[in-house]
Amino acid sequence: MPTAATSSRDSAPRRDKSAAQRALEKMGLVRDIDLALHLPLRYEDETRLVRLADAREGETAQVEGIVTDSQVQFRPRRQLVVTLDDGSDTIHLRFFSFYPSHQKTLSVGRRVRVRGELRGGFLGREMVHPSFKAVEPGAPLAEALTPVYPTTAQLPQAYLRKAVASALERAPLDEILPAHVVPPGLPTLREALHFLHHPRPDVSVATLEDRSHPAWRRLKFEELLAQQLSQLQAQRERARLRAPALPVREGGLQERLLAALPFSLTEAQRRVVEEIARDLQRGQPMHRLLQGDVGSGKTVVAALAAAIAIDAGWQCALMAPTEILAEQHFHKLVGWLEPLGVGVAWLTGSQKGKARQAMLERVADGSAQLVVGTHAVIQDQVQFAKLGLALIDEQHRFGVAQRLRLRQKLQDGPLEPHLLMMSATPIPRTLAMTYYADLDVSTIDELPPGRTPVVTKVFADDKREQVIARIREEVARGRQVYWVCPLIEESEVLDLQNATETHAQLSQALPDRMVGLLHGRMPAAEKAAVMSLFAGGQMSVLVATTVIEVGVDVPNASLMVIEHAERFGLSQLHQLRGRVGRGAVASVCVLLYTPPLSDTGKARLKAMAETHDGFEIARRDLEIRGPGEFLGARQSGAPLLRFADLQEDLPLVQQARHAARRLLDQHPRAAAAHVARWLGGKSEYLKA
Ligand code: ADP
Ligand code: MG
Repeated sequence: MPTAATSSRDSAPRRDKSAAQRALEKMGLVRDIDLALHLPLRYEDETRLVRLADAREGETAQVEGIVTDSQVQFRPRRQLVVTLDDGSDTIHLRFFSFYPSHQKTLSVGRRVRVRGELRGGFLGREMVHPSFKAVEPGAPLAEALTPVYPTTAQLPQAYLRKAVASALERAPLDEILPAHVVPPGLPTLREALHFLHHPRPDVSVATLEDRSHPAWRRLKFEELLAQQLSQLQAQRERARLRAPALPVREGGLQERLLAALPFSLTEAQRRVVEEIARDLQRGQPMHRLLQGDVGSGKTVVAALAAAIAIDAGWQCALMAPTEILAEQHFHKLVGWLEPLGVGVAWLTGSQKGKARQAMLERVADGSAQLVVGTHAVIQDQVQFAKLGLALIDEQHRFGVAQRLRLRQKLQDGPLEPHLLMMSATPIPRTLAMTYYADLDVSTIDELPPGRTPVVTKVFADDKREQVIARIREEVARGRQVYWVCPLIEESEVLDLQNATETHAQLSQALPDRMVGLLHGRMPAAEKAAVMSLFAGGQMSVLVATTVIEVGVDVPNASLMVIEHAERFGLSQLHQLRGRVGRGAVASVCVLLYTPPLSDTGKARLKAMAETHDGFEIARRDLEIRGPGEFLGARQSGAPLLRFADLQEDLPLVQQARHAARRLLDQHPRAAAAHVARWLGGKSEYLKA
């Protein structure tokens, strides 16, 4: 469909050039190479003219003729109606918004070239908002297809086209890669780009659209190669760094902790503890992701890792994304480690004055051997005496910038600390291979024994009364219930209103029970008070926005109701559901939705009802959302793949991996130039 932007060609009012330039910058189109790599969404065929008599309705056609009538009509609404005659037939051109300059170009007697979709109107054939331009008789036609670029309202298509075309001429596109690392049959980068911006009209449009054309494959290969190279570089840089060697001591702290635990480890936990211990005793910084489904018992693994570091005389930091979660960890770890003589400190953003000062001193003088907290742990004022191991829980919840900061913070001394990240959102293998080449992965693939799987039920929200009746039964049996309300991103106020109303409704329905409310805007102390009433069992029902999303552990909770479940992402739903079924009691998760459901909404709820396996959920999530969103790239600012698709282009991914190794070994300069060309200053982000 022709858009307002494409119809403005040479007749649009002049725009402030710097506004368009600012828009370019905002889209990250700064260097010539950035513009050259900004590829068309689709193309328009302006290489030929169609006779009106031959043009068919429903088709997009370019025609040329003389304006024989032009008038502004006011019914049914203000519009400019122009009659065009090309000698074979006439059509109407209809514009609902137009400038005086448009009227001038389209005045009677002018010759114009017009492109748009031909429709059969009530009063004869017409085009609505076609693109148009004044031409001289015999004016040459375009020789290549006309590119249509992704753009924004502030950036007219015509301006962007010119900017790309001239950048394409200027951009340094010399072949950086030696021919033998490029898969055979692909054009050079310069050829590929010139072709994709201005394809010849005889090309198969299908191969352009499905991106299987060799020019597209060259681009995808280049992109994948840059990404693999920067990962590989990070991996090799890290291999040169030194970290304290932390051996496991016979009869040491780790053994004593194991003996004191009220349970024995699962096979899977034992295995990952082994993997971690092996990393820690090497003099190289560990860079490991510990993944395991919600409830699989990652915390105790972290504690055992901490025990090794502390036993060897080093400090350990544990960072969690929310205060509530950090506090739960704190209590748990204090319970496990303090009896064994370990000093545990606590750091969060809400801590003030003397309390904070005292904690900072204990961190700085080393008397706090384990420091638990939120991202406050990585603030500038926090100076560790001797940090040997950093643990990050729910690492995907931290932004890339925060993770980078942590790494920089950790690089203070001559020795780097070891790094263990934990996540309940497992990464599918193809993603791990592509995005985390610089990361070792340990997986807990087994839940502790004695858990009863959560039964998941999906209802439309007209069943609300029945659900409340069920809550009544559940609390009568001494069980506890979560009711989760969605976070409405555009409006925290609405979000709160929804949760507050539900809280009022449930309080009324359960007059003899304590019903609590927990939401993101509450002061930390109040949150903690509510949470401890619920954890202690005095509170029967907790109405919450997604602040309970991660980590909260209340084994007596047996029912979770998720309102507007259709608004949550799949992995988020899975995490939430993981809050119940933590003890031996049979648990239920009720997903309430408000019809009508979108297709993706349906797919998500169906996946939730059908499976409990976090890995299977992650796989389906990837299917529903695609890898870009899966990795949360938009928030994180990481340069994701723009051209390649990890699933479709797996063979290219493998070729790129192979080429990256050869390039780095044999042509390190070319490797560096290639990464600079593709990632500019962004390659740091890939390492976070
Ligand atoms: P997550 O992996 O989601 O962070 P947690 O570490 O919070 O899970 O563990 C969930 C619950 O299971 C906690 O109450 C924890 O103490 C308990 N747990 C962990 N490992 C075992 C085990 N091997 N046997 C029994 N219970 C365990
Ligand atoms: Mg956890």
